[in-house]
Amino acid sequence: MQVVEDIYEAQKTFEELRQQGRSVGLVPTMGSLHKGHVSLVERARLRCDVVAVSIFVNAIQFNDVNDHRQYPRSTEADLAMLASAGVDFVLLPTDEQMHPKPMNVLITTSGAAELLEGVHRPGHFDGVATVVAKLFIILGPGLAFFGEKDFQQLVVVRRMVSELHFPVEVVGCPTVREPDGLAMSSRNLRLAEADRAKAPIVHRAILAARQAYAAGETSGRGLIAAMYEILSSVQDLVIDYASVVDPQTLKDVDHVKPDSRLVVAVHLGSVRLIDNSAVGGD
Ligand code: AMP
Repeated sequence: MQVVEDIYEAQKTFEELRQQGRSVGLVPTMGSLHKGHVSLVERARLRCDVVAVSIFVNAIQFNDVNDHRQYPRSTEADLAMLASAGVDFVLLPTDEQMHPKPMNVLITTSGAAELLEGVHRPGHFDGVATVVAKLFIILGPGLAFFGEKDFQQLVVVRRMVSELHFPVEVVGCPTVREPDGLAMSSRNLRLAEADRAKAPIVHRAILAARQAYAAGETSGRGLIAAMYEILSSVQDLVIDYASVVDPQTLKDVDHVKPDSRLVVAVHLGSVRLIDNSAVGGD
């Protein structure tokens, strides 16, 4: 496994790989890796000759300085995990090289990017789109793998790829969960013990809405009520949103279809958790 910090060295390496006709798959991450990330690597491994992972805690996508400061970092353990998952190449760029100062260029996102997370984390998706575009330009992957865990991110990246004509196939990958249903996330490490015990309620709320739909409830309002009933049973849990949305536009839907998306964001202590699922099940 080759580990490279220098963006220009990486760019040159991948130009050569593409000239040799090797297919390249990219898994962009912010490190502090877990089985969810590994599942993306495994999917990339099945479809690509060369699997590249980037580890970069992208400051410009954090709207909260504390969240950025406290974001867990564990590069050595990450590299060991990636080596045993059969990754070929890891890009570990520096802030200075990735976002040279002064930073005068930023991709602006709108539409689906302004809803849900966009309301609570202004500027977040501009930062995501900008770094993903840069990674695509540096490594030139034919395929890029993103988790459905961050469903809105997947929607925004697909939109960016389509509008900016990147020759990249975006592959969405299912959410990997802990045995108790909690979606794996690097931020879970920051949950206090009592909050970790409460955290599976987010997935339980989503399952309750799925059950209500399976039992014949087809109104958005009905499914939202089912989620709120579960979430509001937990003390000290703050709900940012619990909605049912169209899977492309992310606008609220009244008449629910199987591919409508249940989306939830909550705070437990200082940790913000998000989760989602198709109404008809994943
Ligand atoms: P992050 O390091 O949090 O930026 O995540 C990097 C990639 O891994 C993103 O495409 C995420 O959607 C994906 N990811 C994070 N958690 C999970 C999970 N539990 N299951 C599947 N993919 C995930």
